Amino acid sequence: MTATCDFCWRYCSIESGERGFCGIREHRAEGIITINYGKLLAASVEPLEKKPLYHFRPGTKTLSVALFGCNYRCGFCQNHDLSQKTSPMYPGPWKDYDEGLDTSPLQLVNRMKECKVSTMTYTYSEPVVWQDYMLDTAKLVKEAGGYNCMITNGSFSSAARERIFPLIDGFNIDVKGDEEFYRTYCKASLRPVLETLEAVCDLPGKVVEATTLVIEGIHDIDDIQWLGHRLKDAGVSVWHLSRFFPHYNMDNRAPTTERFLSQAIEAAESCGIPYVYAGNSGNEHYAKTRCPNCRTEIISRRGYYVHVEEELYEHLLLGKCTECGESIYGFF
Ligand code: SF4
Repeated sequence: MTATCDFCWRYCSIESGERGFCGIREHRAEGIITINYGKLLAASVEPLEKKPLYHFRPGTKTLSVALFGCNYRCGFCQNHDLSQKTSPMYPGPWKDYDEGLDTSPLQLVNRMKECKVSTMTYTYSEPVVWQDYMLDTAKLVKEAGGYNCMITNGSFSSAARERIFPLIDGFNIDVKGDEEFYRTYCKASLRPVLETLEAVCDLPGKVVEATTLVIEGIHDIDDIQWLGHRLKDAGVSVWHLSRFFPHYNMDNRAPTTERFLSQAIEAAESCGIPYVYAGNSGNEHYAKTRCPNCRTEIISRRGYYVHVEEELYEHLLLGKCTECGESIYGFF
């Protein structure tokens, strides 16, 4: 007998006793369950800028949490220890799901309060494959008056969108390349990611940022421009372009140069996306938030340190530029 998992766009059809593509959703007598529900592997307090989220309560901190699991197979994954070790394709020693500290959603929310932060971020691996635990936690975070953010590949099923959107306030969604890139390097598809972006950018009250890891020699400037137009059409206002460094199954590639990243950022800006940032880069020019209308510098950043001029602060809380009154995208 088979059952279908509706957590992501794969809609895996899973035989009794078997697991889906992600390796953590298993068909048991009671239905399909998340085998590592509550097995917490990471919980650390860090600036929201580190996620990166630049337009969601800038200058504040979050409790970042993760369980094992992912529904992609990216050879360049920066967090493969957390995302890929439940995959049957993982080349290293396979770790089973029972690793991790048993932590109920309520215990996790209590931890967030003890840490004196009011934002929980689901991150590091792919939260869409452990969305039941994320959503049970997110409900309690909301009841406690807090906020929820999700760092994700965006490959939701339509049912997952309906479950996730009401509870998550801030999203950073990875957009990795064109359809061919997704198929070749991630064993995935761009289509559901664009569908998620289009749906969430239309919703009032949500902050949506996109991130692309720019791999010089695989991505070219035309690819960045093509992606920029897709993101612009989807309604994306904030785009982080991040430098690739050798990692995991791509540890023999050269890092992306600052020069290529700057060219990519210029191409991204030419697509009309108002806030474009450099990631994994020493280029502070592209770490600043400027008014998209008059270019007044509103937020400067050095590393994860955020600075807002005092006279700009009140305007920023209202989401306005102090010089021209233009709306500044985000939740401040
Ligand atoms: S979360 Fe996605 S990959 Fe995992 S079993 Fe469900 S549909 Fe398949």
